[in-house]
Amino acid sequence: MYTLGRVSDVSLLRGAQGKEEGFAMAVVLCSFENADKHARGTRLSIARWQPRGGPRYPTLWFLAPFREDRTPIKMMPPEEYRTEYLQHVLFGPNRERINRWLAKLDKDEDITLLCWCNPARQKYYPKLFCHSILVGYLIQERRPDIEVVFADGREKPVWDGLI
Ligand SMILES: [Zn+2]
Repeated sequence: MYTLGRVSDVSLLRGAQGKEEGFAMAVVLCSFENADKHARGTRLSIARWQPRGGPRYPTLWFLAPFREDRTPIKMMPPEEYRTEYLQHVLFGPNRERINRWLAKLDKDEDITLLCWCNPARQKYYPKLFCHSILVGYLIQERRPDIEVVFADGREKPVWDGLI
């Protein structure tokens, strides 16, 4: 939990400029439903599909929870889910595409990665369970110069780290 403790400590230091000193940019993680409360900069989906009738966001398909054969990664306990998502997505065939995306995240422009998950949708779980949290951990590992904002329940995640 030290990682998130550090993130929330840092967010207390947020100045009037809205940008942390020393961070190139921010990546905000939140749900479609609460995007207006938390989002900064360009909004992108990393979900398998988007809410009907709302705004349509560009999707970063290489981060959506699909296996190589396009079957969805879903309906399994958190530990198993993390293993599947790392194996088939973050460290799987999309790895090079994801590495290129991570390397390009330096444009000084905040982005928000959207998924469905928020505490209201997961009211029977005490901690939030969402692949966007794993994406956030990967960004923290690879790009410590970027601020990752775990919003909308992600302050209390089901996993403590990427691995
Ligand atoms: Zn999610």
